[in-house]
This record gives sequence, structure tokens and C-alpha cells, in this order.
Amino acid sequence: MERGASLSLVTVHAPRGFQTERFVLDLEARAHNLGGRLEPRPLMEKGGYGLARLEGDVGGSHWRILVLGEEPPPAGKRAEMEARQRASGARLAIVLDDAGASMEVVRETEELPTAVAVAVLPNALRSAEVARGLGAQGREVLLHMPMEPLGTQGPGPGEGAVEVGLPAHEIRVRVERALGVVAGARGMNNHMGSRATADAAAMRAVMSVLRERGLYFLDSRTTPDSVAEQVARENGIPALRRDVFLDVVSEPEAIRHALEQAVARARAQGSAVAIGHVHPLTIEILAHELPKLGPDVRLVRPSQLLR
Ligand SMILES: [Zn+2]
Repeated sequence: MERGASLSLVTVHAPRGFQTERFVLDLEARAHNLGGRLEPRPLMEKGGYGLARLEGDVGGSHWRILVLGEEPPPAGKRAEMEARQRASGARLAIVLDDAGASMEVVRETEELPTAVAVAVLPNALRSAEVARGLGAQGREVLLHMPMEPLGTQGPGPGEGAVEVGLPAHEIRVRVERALGVVAGARGMNNHMGSRATADAAAMRAVMSVLRERGLYFLDSRTTPDSVAEQVARENGIPALRRDVFLDVVSEPEAIRHALEQAVARARAQGSAVAIGHVHPLTIEILAHELPKLGPDVRLVRPSQLLR
């Protein structure tokens, strides 16, 4: 927990099968019993990465509670991985999500090393143009495929999303159409998708297209119940998973801290994948911090981690 002058930030890492809705209701009730108030908030600002978000005032301070699907590895396992890692250099891949609304992003990302990849939404205002512009920079582009989230708060994944219960044929059509817009994509990751990535049938339909196209899959892990990476591997598709979210809290100190966590994870595991957004603040912090990475950590394209 980080404690500011007036803001208390609590991050909860949900284990597999965590009953988020019940947890949220419990917290609301307990805050009420303490004479305070906590209310669920939409996750939209962060692209639906968390499972839930609550804000409110209890006991004279303002609280923000985030429920994330990310779980750090146990300490014993970590020590073992660290020992294995020391011999060779660590590799870190960074992907920035949610591009496509504006060409500004092409100009802004010029400040970043080309190893930083960008994931482009297929259903945004200027998706195709943005994908072309980023590709022209020599940057790795991912299709940021909209997928059905849990819950109904927030704006939803948008048009053409992968939804649970759709016929496999329709899911294939949607993925193919999206790949037609974000041309030149080298891989795919999920936009939202805390419901869809937990559904093996939906993921099998998605992966069948990736296999035909020779694309990799990066599981954003918006839910601990995601089976996407597993289904990808079962279908012979090169797959990665997100280790750290960079800008769940869009404040400079929080982003720097998350980047440090990503670097530590890369050192411990040998490699790590960090996901952020194409927010100007995130880009600004990365442009400032990445040149200062230690000599033992190498920034690579996500596809380089597949080898
Ligand atoms: Zn997204």
C-alpha cells in the first residue's frame, strides 16, 4: 500500500476463481458500517485491465482500491529464478495499448526506442493509418483485439469484439476483419477480455486465425482465469503473457515504480513483458527512463522473446 497525504491506494491481486463481485459488495458494506463510503468505479480509463475499482472516503482519508489479476511469483521460486538468471542478460519487452484514435501517437512514440511495440485497436477512428505510421517507424505493431469484459460498467470493448457464445465462424470473421485494418501486425493481444479470455471455445476460434497467419499471441492477463495463453500454446501458437501493467495508476511516480517492477521481473525471470497505454504521460516517462536502464537489462521487441 502506498500512502499519500490524502490518498490511500490499495492494490489487491486476485487469485484464480476470486469472487470479485462479492468482494466489492463486502467492501461497500464494511465502509458503510464504518460511517464512510466506497463506490465501484468504471475501469474504462485503464482499458479495463483491472477486475474492479472502488473509490471513496473512510476514516478521514480518500481510498482507491484496485483489484488486479496479477500475482507476483512466490519468494522461493523467485530466488531460484534469480540464480538461474544471473549468468545471462535480462530482456524486457514493452507494449503500449489502445492506439488508433489519433495520429498524434505516431509523432509521440518517435521519442521511444523502436523496440517498444504498440498495439492498435481495429475499431478506432484512424486505426489503419496509425498502424501504417507506426510500421513505417520500424516499430512492431500488434492487433489490440477487442474482447468481451466482465461486468457492464464502462464503455465496453467496442464494435466487432470477440464475444463469448458467438459461433466460431463469426469470431474468425471478426478477427480477420480486424487484421485487415491493422495490417502488418506481427502479433495480437487482448483489449479488455476478462470474460472472453476465460472462455476456451472463443479462444480456440481466435487462435485458429493466428495459426493460419503465423502471428503470436500476448495474453494481457486481464483476469487470473484467462485460458488464452494455454489455448494458444495447445494450438502451436507462440505465446507470451503480461507480467506488469505500467500505468494502472496514471501518475508519474506510479509509472516509474511499475517500470522498476518490470525490470526486476526481467532480472528474476530472464525476461518480462510490461504493458502500458499510449497515454502522453506514459510515453513521456518511458522516454525519460528507458535510456537509464542498467547494462544488464536489454529492451527487446516482444517477438524477440518468442525465440
Ligand atoms: Zn486496451
